[in-house]
Order: sequence, then structure tokens, then C-alpha cells
Amino acid sequence: MRTSGRWTAPAGRRPDPVTAGYGDGTMTAPAPWERAARGAMLLDDHGRLATTIFAEMSALAARTGAVNLGQGFPDEDGPAEVLAAAHAAIDAGLNQYPPGRGTPGLLDAVAEHQRRFYGIELDPAREVLVTAGATEALAATLLALVDDGDEVVTLEPFYDAYGALVGLAGGTHVTVRLHGPDFRVDHGELRAAFSDRTRVVVVNDPHNPTGTVLDDATRRLVVELARLHDAVIVTDEVYEHLLFDGARHVPISTLPGAAERTITVSSGGKTFATTGWKVGWLSGPEELVSRVLTVKQYLTYVNASVFQPAIAVGLRLPDEYFSQLAAGLQAKRDLLSAGLEAAGFAVSPSHGSYFVVADAAPLGHHDAAELCRRLPELAGVVGVPLSAFCRDGGAPGTSSLVRFAFCKKTEVLERAVEQLARLRA
Ligand code: PMP
Ligand code: GLN
Repeated sequence: MRTSGRWTAPAGRRPDPVTAGYGDGTMTAPAPWERAARGAMLLDDHGRLATTIFAEMSALAARTGAVNLGQGFPDEDGPAEVLAAAHAAIDAGLNQYPPGRGTPGLLDAVAEHQRRFYGIELDPAREVLVTAGATEALAATLLALVDDGDEVVTLEPFYDAYGALVGLAGGTHVTVRLHGPDFRVDHGELRAAFSDRTRVVVVNDPHNPTGTVLDDATRRLVVELARLHDAVIVTDEVYEHLLFDGARHVPISTLPGAAERTITVSSGGKTFATTGWKVGWLSGPEELVSRVLTVKQYLTYVNASVFQPAIAVGLRLPDEYFSQLAAGLQAKRDLLSAGLEAAGFAVSPSHGSYFVVADAAPLGHHDAAELCRRLPELAGVVGVPLSAFCRDGGAPGTSSLVRFAFCKKTEVLERAVEQLARLRA
């Protein structure tokens, strides 16, 4: 396999389709898959292609029987009404292609949800699009809007898909660090990340992997900078209902001057514990949504005909469902954070999402990647090193950080906490 080389295209010669080389040591430009792999930090300098950290750590947990606090998925089913609606949809014969933009019932339910929780008014027929998870919403949006050499700003650490998709689109990924232990944005650094080449800024709030929630001043600055540089704001709000300590989610599109340039992305996976259903959606101005639809219809065209009506039922559940979801998860955050603290980690506060970040340096472990590989044997638990969400292994001070997911049954977290205590012994 091609590993490294000079990226040139000698006139009138065709590269070998498999090696991508010209037989004399010169190479073609990196192929799209390679840009995606490098963007997600899956390809090392020796050309070795890794699986995603989530797949690697879930496989490690399965192999060793360790408690899997690595990949962020719940280990319990979501609301019974939602599950029943999917069964009913199969029985009702909704088994063929749904409409390209999504089933009307789900488009309406998304619009109602945005009005109920945030006061956002949307035309469900023009300003909402259903996608195969938030992942496809992000993919279609970035592929639709980002061209060769365009810059895309994200926070760092970042969800791996952002790096892959920016690479696939041929864009340049510019990151703004979140500074621990509480993972705040430095406003000077945010300003410096923007330029007239900035095409898109992707804002993930609440944030995976750190559990941070942006403050109002930072959200306002994102809007100010996007306007100044004429960039599109893409928000990733998949954890919108998983905020703790009484906090309410604030979509960036509700800020003055934001709506006309914002694509808001979310998904039913986290909110209804249905990560395998891959029902996501986006909303925004008609013109932007149409551009994204143009690409989306050639990625999947449509998906999940029987799950879309079920997620519509979920979005219409009473307010108590959503508040109890957050309260239940907050108790799990507290349980795991206290257990990590007791085991000797220095724990960062998690204000939202499924995740908490813990520093293993006080336990004498300075390389979290190495620790995570040994954690099943040391403590019967699996976590994910934060470096997997950072370029070049991450900023100084991040190499000893581990992300743990607390979206697991209470008894599972209790077992994890008990086993983690061995680290201190
Ligand atoms: N964005 C973030 C920040 C995520 O953590 C995830 C995954 N869990 C996704 C997007 C993907 O969402 P989906 O499964 O709906 O594609
Ligand atoms: N979003 C999940 C996480 O961060 C994983 C999704 C995936 O495996 N791609 O753990």
C-alpha cells in the first residue's frame, strides 16, 4: 500500500489504480478515502489504517468482558411508546421508501419540537430534512458546502466524523482548543481561527467528548465571527436534551443574526436511546436545506421508513419525559464522577452529554492511550483516550485524559466504580 511520497501528477501519465504510484516513486494526490482517514486520525505515518477508537474499544470490552464505558451508547431501551410505534409502523406496511425529505409526520414533529423547546418557527415542508442519523446530516452539509481549500472551524477535541468529513470534502480543518480542566474556549483563539477562507464553523454543544456546554458569550462570538467572514454555522445538538443541573439548551440559531446562516443538526439516537435506528434531521433556511438535500439524496436518498414515525412519537412525548431523561443521566454522571475521583483520577465537570473526562496523571498514568489498552486488565473497565479526538495526539496536558461514558445501567456503573477503585490499591 502507498504510504508516503511526492504528490505530483506527471503530464500525460496515468497512475497505477491500486498503488496510486507512477512506478518511479511519484504519487498521485491523496485519494478521498485517505483524506477522510487522515482527517479522523486513522492513518499513521507508516500508512497503517486503524479502525475507529469506538470500534477498537468496544471490541476490547467484548474480548475481555470489561465494563464498556468507551463507546457512547445506552445499554437500556428507550420509551416503550417509541418502540411500539416502530413495531406498529412495520405492521402497517410502511416498509417502502419514505418521501425524500422525510415522512411528513416526522417533519411536523421536528418543527413542533423546535417551537416547543426553543421558540423556533420552521416550515416543515421546506426548512426541515430527515437524514440517516446526525452523521449523514453533517456529511451531506459539509459535502454540499465545503470546496477544495475552504476552511472549516471546529472545537478540539472533536468528534472524529468532523475530521473525516472535512477531509473528504477537500477542506482544511482548523481547530480551536477547549482548555481543561473545565474545557473553555479562549475568545482570542476563536477569533484567530477564522479567516476569509472560513466556509463553515461546526459547533458541537453540548460537547462530545468533554461534556462541556458553551457559555452565551462564546455562542455570540461564533455568530459574530461567522457573519464577519460570511461563514455558515453548522450546529451538532445531538445531546440537546442531556444537560445537567437545571441548565437549558440554547440552540445557536436562536441568537440574533444566526438563523439565516445556521444549519441545526440533531438526532433521535441519544434522546430516545435508539442509536441503532439512525434517524437524524437538520433544519435551517430553505435555500441552505435545499443545497444539502441535493447531496443527501445521492448518499442514502432515504432511510428508516418505520423508525421515522416512531421518532415523531418520541419528539411529541410530554415535557416530563425529557426532564426525567436528564435527571436520570445526571445521577449517573454523579455516580461515575465520584467513583473516578475516589479511584484517584482528577475529574473534569461534565455539564451535558453522555461523557465525563478524567485525568489519570494523579495515578501516575501519563499516556491515556496506553492506559486504555491496559484498563480491562487493571480495572475491568474500558474508556477512550481523549487523544483520539485530537490532532497530533492533542495539546500538552491532554495525553493523560480519558473519556468515560455514563449512559449505562446504574448497576453497571456501580460495578465499574468498584473495579476502578483497584487502580488506587
Ligand atoms: N455528533 C456527535 C457529537 C456524536 O457524539 C454522535 C454520536 N454519537 C453523532 C454526531 C452521530 O449521531 P448519529 O448516530 O445520529 O449519526
Ligand atoms: N458517538 C459515539 C461516541 O462518541 C460513537 C459513535 C460511533 O461509534 N461512531 O462514543
